[in-house]
Formats: sequence, C-alpha cells, structure tokens
Amino acid sequence: MPDFTAHRHPVLAVRCPTCGKAPGLWCRRPSGHRAADLHTARRAEADRVFIEQHGPTAAIIHAASGWLIDPQGRSRD
Ligand SMILES: [Zn+2]
Repeated sequence: MPDFTAHRHPVLAVRCPTCGKAPGLWCRRPSGHRAADLHTARRAEADRVFIEQHGPTAAIIHAASGWLIDPQGRSRD
C-alpha cells in the first residue's frame, strides 16, 4: 500500500504511468534527465489512490517533521 508520507513528495508514493518510474523515484524526461516536475498522470494517480486510502475529506500537509495526513483537511477549506 503506498505510503504518502514516506517520500520527499507525496506523489512519489505511486509508480508513474507516464515514464514508469517506481515509487520513491523522481520522474525522468525521455532524454533521461530528471524532470523539473512530476508527470500530470502520476499526480492524478496519486490523488486517486490517496482518496481511496484516506477518503475524500483527507489532505496531506507538510509539517516541520515531514508529511502528515490530515483526515479532515479538505472539509475545512
Ligand atoms: Zn513520470
């Protein structure tokens, strides 16, 4: 099960559908260079899995100690 708090960016918890990078590894451009940004499809996939795991009201926040799941984060918007 992906752990959204384990990596330096929450989206890294899932494999990238676009470039195939494994969880924990940053996206690569076709040239092999590190992409400046993570692929859009990976962000969408991370969002889908996150909601599946934590529910539609949960959000992930960056605290001093790292990433934290806030179960009601989105409902307070
Ligand atoms: Zn990618």
